Amino acid sequence: MTFDRWNPLNDAPSFPAARYAAIADRIAKILKTRNDVLLIQAEAVVALEAAALSLARPGLKAINIVTSMYGGWFGTWLRRGGAEVVDLAAEPARPIGLEAVEAALNAHPDIKVLALVHAESASGIRNPLEEIVALARSRGIVTVVDAVASIGGHALGIDELGIDIAVIGPQKALAGPAGVSALSVSPAAWKLISEQGAPRDSILSLLDQKAWLETGRGALSGTTAPLEFFALEAALDRVEAEGIDAIVARHVRAARATRAALVAMGGELWIDALHGSNLVTTAKLPAAADPAAVLSVAPRGIELSAGVGPGAERLIRLNHTGQRARFDIVLGNLTAYGMALRRRGFKADISAAVDAIALHYGD
Ligand SMILES: *Cc1c(COP(=O)(O)O)cnc(C)c1O
Repeated sequence: MTFDRWNPLNDAPSFPAARYAAIADRIAKILKTRNDVLLIQAEAVVALEAAALSLARPGLKAINIVTSMYGGWFGTWLRRGGAEVVDLAAEPARPIGLEAVEAALNAHPDIKVLALVHAESASGIRNPLEEIVALARSRGIVTVVDAVASIGGHALGIDELGIDIAVIGPQKALAGPAGVSALSVSPAAWKLISEQGAPRDSILSLLDQKAWLETGRGALSGTTAPLEFFALEAALDRVEAEGIDAIVARHVRAARATRAALVAMGGELWIDALHGSNLVTTAKLPAAADPAAVLSVAPRGIELSAGVGPGAERLIRLNHTGQRARFDIVLGNLTAYGMALRRRGFKADISAAVDAIALHYGD
């Protein structure tokens, strides 16, 4: 039997070796950094684990801010590597308070690393990144920021803030592929990583990855996944055509319009704009409403889903991430949420919500 179903994904060409460095440089520009950028041939959670593994060792003490399962995993990886970890957990599905961070830093003057997530897509919150990084920086602490969800959704200047390690993935606000990720590494972070005891001969070793930087940034080691890199290039082309600042502005507008409309409709915001993420807006359901029951009567194909993780169970997420950060999706989300509430016997002023959205997309 012959196989004759033509498919463009068969016999994919290899990705040109000369273009990896260009991709890293383009990501550096998006991150507004002169730090080294490493390309990780895997989804962003692998890049996060690589950062943890490469920093962790006995004798290293870290503050790990936990505002979702991602922070929980980061602490686990640090501990596995022998580090002493002070977990700093926020109230469930809430951002961490600056005072709590300051108190922890004062209580543990021997901290070398501080890790946190910038924006959370699971609960729609945002941690006070700028202030926390400034606190850590004034004490010479190496900062690790999970910016997977926030890159493209929030202004993020790595060098301006002085973030030592930032981990990003293209699959959220940048609307790219999920199978590759990247991290930026500052000289201070390299110094800490390179100190005695850094793991080698591991796919998760950043020191191993550093060899790529030191050998002219040609082909990545191993057989790379060409389709992922072609897709990443395509995503970067589109990101550059629009401009990273314009992409952030598009997310800001979608978030503002969604929040204003939700309030106008008579709904309840889980978090105010100052502490919210621009990726998703979380609505707190009326006390008598069942999340699954409400979602089950929402129109199909709409970007509504339940919150994820402790404290987020009764939240409905209105998704405006990536290509969804636009007028018609925002309008559809709010209308659908209002319709679902009504179908379950709750009040929802859909007209007022539409008016609020129209105001935000007025120009
Ligand atoms: C999405 C996301 C990641 C990557 O995890 P996935 O497995 O792609 O979901 C990491 N950190 C944060 C904060 C995220 O939102």
